[in-house]
Amino acid sequence: MSNWFGTSPTKPEGRFQATNGATDVLLAVLCLAGAPLAQTPQQIRLMVWLAGQDQTLIGRGVAGFDLCDLPWERPSFAADRAFLLVVAAAAKTRVGWDRLGYTPPPEPLEENLDLFAALAAALEPGDVAWDDDRSPILGWPETIRLCPRHDAYEHAHGCLLCNDV
Ligand SMILES: [Zn+2]
Repeated sequence: MSNWFGTSPTKPEGRFQATNGATDVLLAVLCLAGAPLAQTPQQIRLMVWLAGQDQTLIGRGVAGFDLCDLPWERPSFAADRAFLLVVAAAAKTRVGWDRLGYTPPPEPLEENLDLFAALAAALEPGDVAWDDDRSPILGWPETIRLCPRHDAYEHAHGCLLCNDV
């Protein structure tokens, strides 16, 4: 089984598929690299949303998403998209990998990070269904907190990395 990632339903270019295992690692390194980089409440919300694509809880093989599904907000859209690109670049340079607990093989992770960044770079405000509820599948956590073990933002039901055992 695997997961599909895309920009939006109207932009099929660049869609890619990652195995369940590759998806776990992709989301993990994004969450690890992103936590210390997130500076605004909205950037933290984006990290919480990504953590919420937790295959252990929502089901394996259904964790793929389109970048347009994230809880973007109009006023900070450009800055937040740039933030996500910085997060992907940091993840590729192995920022936070020490908190992963193991060293993932660079392939296909590095390629998937590049593909993910390309999807984010292609996202434009017109691709977002602004009126749709784009909450995490698991809902928003009552309190925003960092996992004390992984220093990654937790979703409504714990830490993506702690749950992946
Ligand atoms: Zn954790």
